[in-house]
Amino acid sequence: MKIQTPGLIIKETNIGENDKLLVILTKEHGIIRAFADGVRRMKSKNSAATSLLCYADFTLYHNKDTYKVSDSVPIELFFDLRYNLEELALAQYFCEMALKLTPEEFEPTEILRLLLNSLHFLTNKSKPVNIVKAVTELKLISLAGFMPNLTGCAVCGEDEAFRFSYSEGCLFCLECSVDVKDTTVVNPTLLAAMRHIIYSEFSKIYSFEIPENDAELLSLITERYVSVQSEYKFKTLDFYKSLIKGI
Ligand SMILES: [Zn+2]
Repeated sequence: MKIQTPGLIIKETNIGENDKLLVILTKEHGIIRAFADGVRRMKSKNSAATSLLCYADFTLYHNKDTYKVSDSVPIELFFDLRYNLEELALAQYFCEMALKLTPEEFEPTEILRLLLNSLHFLTNKSKPVNIVKAVTELKLISLAGFMPNLTGCAVCGEDEAFRFSYSEGCLFCLECSVDVKDTTVVNPTLLAAMRHIIYSEFSKIYSFEIPENDAELLSLITERYVSVQSEYKFKTLDFYKSLIKGI
């Protein structure tokens, strides 16, 4: 059986001398693992669009449990990301998150759209890196089924609730948070940004501005929320953080 689908390569593994196993986040068929034979030869017609972060139109043959790449037409290769180690590391973290968090048998159209937008903003540098990171983390974990409830205090409903619980994924006001562990105080700017990311229309989720120190705090909160909710330690995040520490 043959399928044709746009997809973003979120993982690649070399096999033998000339082949690769690709993990492709496709628009309509979920996450597909596909063998790409011979693509590490220079003369292979598929060598251009079969690397990590390539977004291409793939023609895949499906036989029993195995997919093979028959053809790949590049759409966007995000080539410039490969020249900046920090941006490349962050892009790899986005890919690892998508791989880990995209539910099986799930149509990941919105997750793919999120990743493509974030890679686009990393490439053209038109948004602060911490904003791109925070939006990607909070929106991705929400799409994966762990959307926090940020409407008000989870106990009494009070609007002025500024303690965010990582494990509960909700807010508490000062009075109701006395016995709740693992909370962090989010200032009104951060809370407005978090609400914007999860409650706005998709086309607007990156469109907000906050001071750089708040963007940094926001990025730390969303990163921890992903880590607590997914119960997973992302190696690509550790690598990214080791690089930015050196700046
Ligand atoms: Zn309360």
